[in-house]
Amino acid sequence: MTSFYRLLIVITLLLCFSVTTHTHANEKPSEIYVVNTDLLTIRQSPSSSGTIIGTLTQGEKLTIFQHTSGWAQTYFNGMEGWVAAKYLSPVDETEVFFPNGLLSGYTIVIDPGHGGKDPGAIGHNGVLEKDLILVTAKKIAEKLREAGAKVILTRTDDYFVSLNDRVKISNSHDTDVFISIHFNAFSVGYVGGINTYYYRDGRGLAHKIQATLANELPLKNRGVIQHDYRVLRDNQPPAILIELGFITNTKELSTLQSTNFQDEVARSITIGLIEYFWE
Ligand SMILES: [Zn+2]
Repeated sequence: MTSFYRLLIVITLLLCFSVTTHTHANEKPSEIYVVNTDLLTIRQSPSSSGTIIGTLTQGEKLTIFQHTSGWAQTYFNGMEGWVAAKYLSPVDETEVFFPNGLLSGYTIVIDPGHGGKDPGAIGHNGVLEKDLILVTAKKIAEKLREAGAKVILTRTDDYFVSLNDRVKISNSHDTDVFISIHFNAFSVGYVGGINTYYYRDGRGLAHKIQATLANELPLKNRGVIQHDYRVLRDNQPPAILIELGFITNTKELSTLQSTNFQDEVARSITIGLIEYFWE
């Protein structure tokens, strides 16, 4: 067992202990729930006309103390607050903290490149980079949310977002890391592999993520490269851009399109980030 995993177990035990203590201190049966909609408003009273006192985003967890006719009561900034119960899913407390929960408290911006009028590269069989990016980025977001992270996607569908707006989204939140997702293209069909770019603060993150991807995925390791991309240069948090393989390589493209590959990418990036934050 590495010292890293020993550290994780210690932290897990500490977190479990503090939650148990907290629950008992309230002397009311309470349960942990997770938000299952993009944006959930918290209101002062159990009514859709109640004053809004805050919002929660998908994947955030909250403790519910009581239910009444479709509304669930929690506390927000020290105030009693109510949310629509249909947007909550119960969380099994034993699954919350290990291995899930290791990214709790971290805000990660996932930037699916291109979109809308900008298709990105055009691959073998007319596959568009923007489409493959969106599918893969959503899987990454899902895995990160499972691990407790707050994930912000710069686009969630096939529409155009300027580079400036992508950076603005990242800089206007309390973002810990920014990860732009792309696929590569080249005029020669046999060229393949994965590489990661950084410009300034993302160097350590780039090396960690590239190493994890290269370890877990069956593609060539093309290494880490410093490059002056706008989304990297103007970002305040550590920012990286990953080229997850070549869509112009026939053999590689069929790998990139497989669910198995996309799941592995999502898992690798999640593991890479856990190690990056915890080591
Ligand atoms: Zn691209």
